[in-house]
Amino acid sequence: MIGLISATAAGAAARDRLAAAWPERTRVYDGPVGDAVRRAFGECDRLVCFLATGAVVRLVAPLLGDKTSDPGVVCVDEAGRFAVSLVGGHGGGANALAREVAEVLGAEPVVTTATDAVDLPGLDTLGLPVEGDVAGVTRALLDGEPVALETEVSWPLPPLPVTDGGPYAHVIRLTDRLAGPAPAGREVLLRPPTLVVGVGASKDAPADEVLGLVEGALRDAGLSVHSVAELATVDAKADEPGIVAAAERLGVPLVTYGAEELARVSVPNPSDAPLAAVGTPSVAEAAALARGGELLVPKRKSERPDGRPAMATCAVVRRPGRGRLAVVGLGPGARDLLTPRATAELRRASVLVGLDQYVDQIRDLLRPGTRILESGLGAEEERARTAVAEARKGHAVALIGSGDAGVYAMASPALAEASDDIDVVGVPGVTAALAAGAILGAPLGHDHVSISLSDLHTPWEVIERRVRAAAEADIVVTFYNPRSRGRDWQLPKALAILAEHREPTTPVGVVRNASRADESSRLTTLAALDPATVDMMTVVTVGNTATREIAGRMVTPRGYRWQEEAK
Ligand code: SAH
Repeated sequence: MIGLISATAAGAAARDRLAAAWPERTRVYDGPVGDAVRRAFGECDRLVCFLATGAVVRLVAPLLGDKTSDPGVVCVDEAGRFAVSLVGGHGGGANALAREVAEVLGAEPVVTTATDAVDLPGLDTLGLPVEGDVAGVTRALLDGEPVALETEVSWPLPPLPVTDGGPYAHVIRLTDRLAGPAPAGREVLLRPPTLVVGVGASKDAPADEVLGLVEGALRDAGLSVHSVAELATVDAKADEPGIVAAAERLGVPLVTYGAEELARVSVPNPSDAPLAAVGTPSVAEAAALARGGELLVPKRKSERPDGRPAMATCAVVRRPGRGRLAVVGLGPGARDLLTPRATAELRRASVLVGLDQYVDQIRDLLRPGTRILESGLGAEEERARTAVAEARKGHAVALIGSGDAGVYAMASPALAEASDDIDVVGVPGVTAALAAGAILGAPLGHDHVSISLSDLHTPWEVIERRVRAAAEADIVVTFYNPRSRGRDWQLPKALAILAEHREPTTPVGVVRNASRADESSRLTTLAALDPATVDMMTVVTVGNTATREIAGRMVTPRGYRWQEEAK
């Protein structure tokens, strides 16, 4: 919950706007401000104070405890011009909240945390548990000192400005192993959620016994409890109180599998007891191995202080992180037609793959430390293969394309290469036909199709058959790749086929470099279009028999009868 505190009428007005925008997330604290701040500090995970920073500093100072647990505090000035992240920038979420508040109020976010200022993701904001000398290693990164990244297990980290080679005094280790003897330099341990602990338990096994067994198994194997991703067991034990409580205390989900599924998993130590009880010869090992991985700790049983038979079993499996491939459409060119989601994915990726001219389009958005693999025109298959190969190594990869990356672009060759051992995320982009449509007016108001006139990968007969079908079906057509120096007869031929079914006066829109600096557009007709004015930076949209030019704009009615009825 976000606590809102204000003193003046102007502050209260801004406060009410925020409360109206986020009714579910906010609570207004009335009354004397000192009192209100103290109550909100105790009850909320974040505060927005519509008060001077000085006043808030004095009020929260005596309340501050620990930056991992204190609420984040944001101040908004009397004029509502700035949203200042005051304390708890990372741990308390104040930096992110300042940006959100600024968005709602039309203010400027003020964030002074060093890592944010130089665009470094804070080591404590990577979404992974972190241990060690966070301050020292962060300082080294900020100062540009060499910091090594040692990855013992793969995990798709966002980019970090680390240095190859070494050894260096500062190290970030991505590992699920317990720290060895104290390192000489400064070290940060990032804990990827790579460990799955399979557990079995007889009825009413005590939670302490289950938890003690799990923690002991991890400790003896030199593994960190902070890397446990989940506990796993058989469906029949989904509500077994000792197992449920152990998962809760570890702060991880409990995943369950059917006995039949577990019975099919091959394990080193099957036994008769669980077969009789729940219908599978292995619970702990089979549940841990159900989604693959490497068995690090084979089945072991709990030891009871009273010497009675063990009531719990566990086994530990390592499941390395899956690489992540984001296929990101950059839109037609203009920065404000690049979606926020695309931006987030570009900044999430540690490896960027794309055509050099598209990389140039977004280079300034990339975080320091992003590895850029750019190549020239052509080489599409190779780009796709590279992107997939990097993701399979466990990296977070963004493969970029202009417009929408799935439209005559990289998504299909990449996904044709990709196996199911990586995660794939698609981010849609504004494709050229839509960008051009918005410039021309409303040419796509009824059924429409895109046809690429490039016969590089598609035989001309196939293209011609599709153009003919669109012509006969009276569908609006947008031609991509309409004409290049070496390919100049295809567009006239395609237009001639459409002209067999449409009037010479049918509107045709020609848009070159939509949303780019040298954008141009023209509205003409089937009879008057001069193909020489069309090149590879252009899309050509041909109307259907109902499309009209109205006030200089290209308009395709929503239906053939629709507009008549409206009259
Ligand atoms: N994935 C891209 C299309 C790639 S095919 C998209 O979704 O837009 C390349 C063709 O797209 C070009 O030959 C041209 O016909 C068209 N195109 C791409 N961007 C364009 C733009 N900004 N303006 C006009 N046409 C564009």
